[in-house]
Amino acid sequence: MYLIAGSGLAGSVLAERIASVLKKEVLVVERRDHIGGNVYDYKDSEGIFIHKYGPHAFHTNDESVWAYLSRFTEWYPYFHRVRAIVDGIEIPLPFNLNALYMVFPPGLASRLETKLVDTFGYNVKIPILKLKEFGDKDLQFLSGYIYEKVFLGYTLKQWGLTPENLYPSVTARVPVYISRDDRYFQDRYQGIPENGYTSLIERMLDNPLIRVELNTDFRDVKDSVKFEKLIYTGCIDEFFDFRFGELSYRSLDFSLKSYDTEFFQPVAQVNYPENHDYTRITEYKHFLDTRSERTTVAYEYPQAYERGGNDPYYPIPNDENSALYAKYSEEARKLHNVVFIGRLAEYKYYNMDQIVARALRTFEELR
Ligand SMILES: Cc1cc2nc3c(=O)[nH]c(=O)nc-3n(C[C@H](O)[C@H](O)[C@H](O)COP(=O)(O)OP(=O)(O)OC[C@H]3O[C@@H](n4cnc5c(N)ncnc54)[C@H](O)[C@@H]3O)c2cc1C
Repeated sequence: MYLIAGSGLAGSVLAERIASVLKKEVLVVERRDHIGGNVYDYKDSEGIFIHKYGPHAFHTNDESVWAYLSRFTEWYPYFHRVRAIVDGIEIPLPFNLNALYMVFPPGLASRLETKLVDTFGYNVKIPILKLKEFGDKDLQFLSGYIYEKVFLGYTLKQWGLTPENLYPSVTARVPVYISRDDRYFQDRYQGIPENGYTSLIERMLDNPLIRVELNTDFRDVKDSVKFEKLIYTGCIDEFFDFRFGELSYRSLDFSLKSYDTEFFQPVAQVNYPENHDYTRITEYKHFLDTRSERTTVAYEYPQAYERGGNDPYYPIPNDENSALYAKYSEEARKLHNVVFIGRLAEYKYYNMDQIVARALRTFEELR
């Protein structure tokens, strides 16, 4: 029997593969009172799917991941569009050529556009910290503006750190985009599971060989359950009783509000880099174009993670945490019947498609 700790995407993909292909029994233990990990969603009283742990838009270029997940869901075609309020103006994110014309007078915008296209080419994505390295006067002005207005305040709120104190990969996730394409992602496959993410996970776990125990912590069953192999998707430092110290995370708090209006904002996600304690507002009905007279939005407040107090959301990628994780990873390698996988077990931010791809690869290695 395989024991899996955690019913997020990592645990659920592996449970499905082990039961369907290897025809082995699987016990999934989940500490929370629901399956799905951070992709869990539910319908609220307005009939709108709420993503409990923050907005999730699926996107991938990996055809095999798309094909695999499509066995468990139909997709509602959805292209994520994000806006940011800068100096009171609603601009597209990533900051692109359209944004230039919204925040600058036409003459200046046109000069900056020409400079960007001549320097980098068209349809190119540049991380802000890279753009800041260019000595040209116009590009210095532009990168300073974008850094100040779009990145600095947001990063300080989101991480409690400046962009320079995080790995460059963090700010590179939202580049400056030399294009007129307002979509947040350009991936080939994009969509939202038609009946929500929880239903997708339910279908994965719907196999007589899979048993799911909710409200069950791995620590409480590890000595009583006999297993051939353990797949562990919880926090790696917790698995080793924090023997080298605690890995730090950023946490989030979501304040949900329903309003007596059909729409609150034009797109699912509007970011607030300046002036507010929250970083973004998500209006969930946009994901599936749900029709309802009222609407529900979530105000998102980043906060420090406190073990036992709130949930760990984002690993904080810097040298200190990488060094600490490396110590735990070294211990993990010594345990031959345990597989550590997932954002908490590997202390790594994964997009949904990346963790599915990783779980599918891990299964092939297990076989
Ligand atoms: C705010 C936010 C927004 C995101 N938006 C997107 C997006 O738009 N697009 C995208 O592609 N990706 C997005 N992601 C990433 C996505 O959430 C992850 O890729 C995915 O959830 C990772 O799955 P996982 O199985 O590794 O982890 P999780 O979903 O965290 O699953 C781990 C599970 O293990 C359980 N567990 C932990 N410890 C124990 C224990 N001791 N015993 C029993 N159970 C335990 C947990 O309760 C949890 O259910 C977002 C992430 C965040 C934080």
